[in-house]
Amino acid sequence: MGRYIGPACKRCRRLGVKLFLKGDRCYMAKCPIEQGHSIPGMHGGRRPRLKDYGLQLQEKQRLRNMYGMQEGQFRLFFQRALRSRGVTGEVLLQALEMRLDNLVYRIGFAPSRRSARQFVRHGHIRVNGQKVNIPSYKCKPGDVIQAREAKRSRDYAKAHLDAAESRGWPVWLNVDKAEHKAEILHVPSREEIAPIVNEQLIVELYSK
Ligand code: SF4
Repeated sequence: MGRYIGPACKRCRRLGVKLFLKGDRCYMAKCPIEQGHSIPGMHGGRRPRLKDYGLQLQEKQRLRNMYGMQEGQFRLFFQRALRSRGVTGEVLLQALEMRLDNLVYRIGFAPSRRSARQFVRHGHIRVNGQKVNIPSYKCKPGDVIQAREAKRSRDYAKAHLDAAESRGWPVWLNVDKAEHKAEILHVPSREEIAPIVNEQLIVELYSK
């Protein structure tokens, strides 16, 4: 499956929001969005005024890029959310939050979702004691996610856990920093996820 390997900050600048793609730099003053950089490109400058479709597309692109997903996979998540009980937009956000790579990032084992994805792919993560190297693996409440016992895995996780602790862990995760593990207490509500997007616009886009 193809994936975007171009400049991360360019994506944030294009979409006009912080997507937190680069780890620690995203929390510093040198983040281009914090510095007020304009949209990229030769004719960058004024942001075009978007109407209905443009706004819906922009919201979808923001959410999809934030979680580092390709269009096909993202659409699959939406279709699953559409078939589920509950409010489609909220179910979609919850499904994205329950991905293993996102959880590894939320816990703080890795500085960004992109790094978390690689950390999982390289076999550094255990879920309920079992090795899982699938970034899109769907976790559930009660699952315990832990960094592998090997020194290399623990050292990498430890290096980023401190930064995550200083930012504060989500209330729906019970993180045990000493043991390099965390338990999922419950599926987060919309308020706990606090998305950067209006997910209703994404539902409208895909419902056309
Ligand atoms: Fe770059 Fe991170 Fe800022 Fe986005 S949020 S512009 S990836 S530093």
